[in-house]
Amino acid sequence: MTDIRSMYKTELKELMERLGQKSFRAGQIFKWLHASMADSYEEMTDLSKALRSEMAEKFPIYGARCVTHLKSSIDGTEKFLFALHDDNVIESVLMRYNHGNSVCISSQVGCRMGCAFCASTLEGCVRDLSASEMLAQVYSIQKISGERVSNVVVMGSGEPLDNYDNLIRFIKLLSDPDGLNISRRSITVSTCGLVPKIIELADEELAITLAVSLHAPNDEKRKALMPVAKKYSMDELLSSCRYYFEKTGRRVTFEYALVEGANDSREDAKELAKRLSGMNCHVNLIPVNPVEERDCKRPAAEACRAFAGALDKYGVNATVRRELGSDISASCGQLRRSYLN
Ligand code: SAH
Repeated sequence: MTDIRSMYKTELKELMERLGQKSFRAGQIFKWLHASMADSYEEMTDLSKALRSEMAEKFPIYGARCVTHLKSSIDGTEKFLFALHDDNVIESVLMRYNHGNSVCISSQVGCRMGCAFCASTLEGCVRDLSASEMLAQVYSIQKISGERVSNVVVMGSGEPLDNYDNLIRFIKLLSDPDGLNISRRSITVSTCGLVPKIIELADEELAITLAVSLHAPNDEKRKALMPVAKKYSMDELLSSCRYYFEKTGRRVTFEYALVEGANDSREDAKELAKRLSGMNCHVNLIPVNPVEERDCKRPAAEACRAFAGALDKYGVNATVRRELGSDISASCGQLRRSYLN
């Protein structure tokens, strides 16, 4: 089945030609789908009625139906559960910052990476999301909130680089000047570290921001938290990050979830700083969000600050990330899980 909202303009043109339509119709439809974020052909009032009904019959627009919508009373963060056309559910988050609204989207239904602290991966990966399903999360949230989305982070459930082709399509469509026109610099993709894909992404020269989930100062500790570390060593991973910076000029962000007793000691900070020294990067420290099924404790706030301080002392840029939406299960996969149970 043709997924119309995942198509590039050039592909829409070919489709219009095949239907015996003028090719400028493609530009009109593209703007309806991506700038007006239309969920039905009925809205496309500059198309003939006949074309609208032909399109509706042949090329359904896959949207995302909001089934749960929660708003944090602490910081205004909003969490959404969306049902897809096949009734799978995914979650997305809207965060409000001084510099604008940021939407965190899922890239897969579930995840197959198996990280020890994460709720998204508990039942494996059900399927990849299409480009249109990633877009639908952003479009729906902008429509529901009535506020412009200025940043998009692919940091929800799923491993985006495990769904590479759909991810690239999503980024190109999201940043298209005839669509929502979100600047590539305002798009962040977070990966657990699929090295060959990081290199491929660098070569696309899309200049998006890359975030890499590191979570440990060495291979041994990383393997205990992240199965992907058995496949790629930290040396390989860090060299792919250097390559990313060389190709794009974009500073890489490292995510580091602090887990008590696993990766939060002063020695861990020192070892991490040594490995990252001289790299143009930033470390985001996230006190781990305890997940019921996982045996992970978050260190005290004081220990988190000390870890950041130690990194700083060794010349590595680090901040402890402010927690948003803690009253609405806002971290990875938690809300979807509570919905499914
Ligand atoms: N698969 C990608 C993106 C999804 S997860 C990745 O691994 O980067 C987004 C971030 O949240 C990752 O850094 C992930 O490791 C982290 N994360 C997952 N579960 C968490 C938890 N319980 N507490 C804190 N961070 C968590």
